[in-house]
Amino acid sequence: MWGRNETPSAATVFLTGCLLCLCPVLVALCWNCCHYRGASIAALFHHVRSFGILSVLPRPTGESMLMLVSWMALQAVLFVHLPGPLVRGQETPAGNVLEYRVNGLYAWTISNGLFAAFGLLGIIRFSVIADNWEGLLVAANLYGFLLAAFVFIKAHMQPTHRGDRKFSGSRIYDFFMGIEINPRIGSLFDLKLFHNGRPGIAAWTMINASFAASQYNRFGLVTDSMVLINILHALYVLDFFIHEDWYLKTIDISHEHFGFNLSWGDSVWLPYMYTLQAQYLSHNPVILGIQFWPIFLLGLVGYCIFREANFQKDVCRRTGGLCHIWGEPAKIINTKFTSADGKRHNSVLLASGLWGLSRHCNYLGDLILSLAMCLTCGTHHALPYFYILYMTILLMHRIERDHQRCKGKYGPYWTEYCRQVPYKLIPAVY
Ligand code: NDP
Repeated sequence: MWGRNETPSAATVFLTGCLLCLCPVLVALCWNCCHYRGASIAALFHHVRSFGILSVLPRPTGESMLMLVSWMALQAVLFVHLPGPLVRGQETPAGNVLEYRVNGLYAWTISNGLFAAFGLLGIIRFSVIADNWEGLLVAANLYGFLLAAFVFIKAHMQPTHRGDRKFSGSRIYDFFMGIEINPRIGSLFDLKLFHNGRPGIAAWTMINASFAASQYNRFGLVTDSMVLINILHALYVLDFFIHEDWYLKTIDISHEHFGFNLSWGDSVWLPYMYTLQAQYLSHNPVILGIQFWPIFLLGLVGYCIFREANFQKDVCRRTGGLCHIWGEPAKIINTKFTSADGKRHNSVLLASGLWGLSRHCNYLGDLILSLAMCLTCGTHHALPYFYILYMTILLMHRIERDHQRCKGKYGPYWTEYCRQVPYKLIPAVY
């Protein structure tokens, strides 16, 4: 049976406990460094040494609590009531195939349209999100922790699919990594799809726009770097919602269990760390001038590789390999695997196109795009480069985890695929 390792070592549990405590502090440190220490990591450390760690933590406000509650309520209403096709997800290890209503693009359009309309009508300030950023950090943390506790208890008391739970023997590990794969309320309110997409990713473009307004309020201009980061991030966000049905087949939805990693990650890590460049630029304006175009081009190249690779895999899987890739019939490896209920299944692994050049060209494209995003901030400070560092660690780690999982699932077929496509990430290099 493939799936998550069930017995983590003591060292893994210890590391998980550290991440649980340190991640919220790391986000607070980055927020404080960006907004109060001129993005200087040295200045941040000096401040912490002098005044202690508590002095850099954010404080709650009533307005931001209300904003977060209203935002989540709006997203939940849109998630439940907007129309959209019902799409089937990937088969889970226990053999369940779930249906999802795909309406994220409508939700994004309505949410961002309302924000733009209210801003233009003067009902809200465009900078309202940036102005309440500190209080929102507390509210988002509260939400992320409460949600993690809720899904942990739910997994024990009222799981959606008993067979798709993983207990590791460690409560800390289970809390962090999640127990259920697809916890649901009712038959269609999928907590993972909702939280992965709606609170953070739908807000991403609004957060960036708000920090652009904040830059304007502070300096009287919106720089070309701010425009570029808004464009690159919007490209990534729109791609996500336009291809939401594809997203159902990714590791996040198909294989990750829903615990603190995703509940807190979607509520806090994503909106705060993925928008770091716009936050940075709102305080440290960078004029790119002629550099705008090469950075834009790099971002586009990264995006095209990312999209083409994901498209090729998607079309191959949807047609069972009966498709053309770059004008040639797709080269595939026919595989068999067994789910927990003992049933045998057939699948295909694509071994041509970008998937014939390396086993994770989609990650390579993502990393190139991430680098372009960081480059919009110039080279004065290291802080905005945290994103590419994080993405590299995340995706390299994911390559190894995915390799182990696919080896377990496909056995000799996976070995054959690795023989035919020996490079993991960068063709002919790694
Ligand atoms: P993939 O889309 O690469 O999915 C990997 C899975 O695809 C494997 O587990 C296997 O699943 C299947 N697979 C592997 N090789 C092949 C093949 N040759 N042919 C057909 N199927 C294959 O990974 P992710 O879900 O991690 O990433 C999806 C996208 O999301 C990527 O572009 C990535 O860059 C991006 N991403 C972005 C993140 C962010 O925070 N911005 C985080 C993570 C990902 P199975 O066979 O079981 O179906």
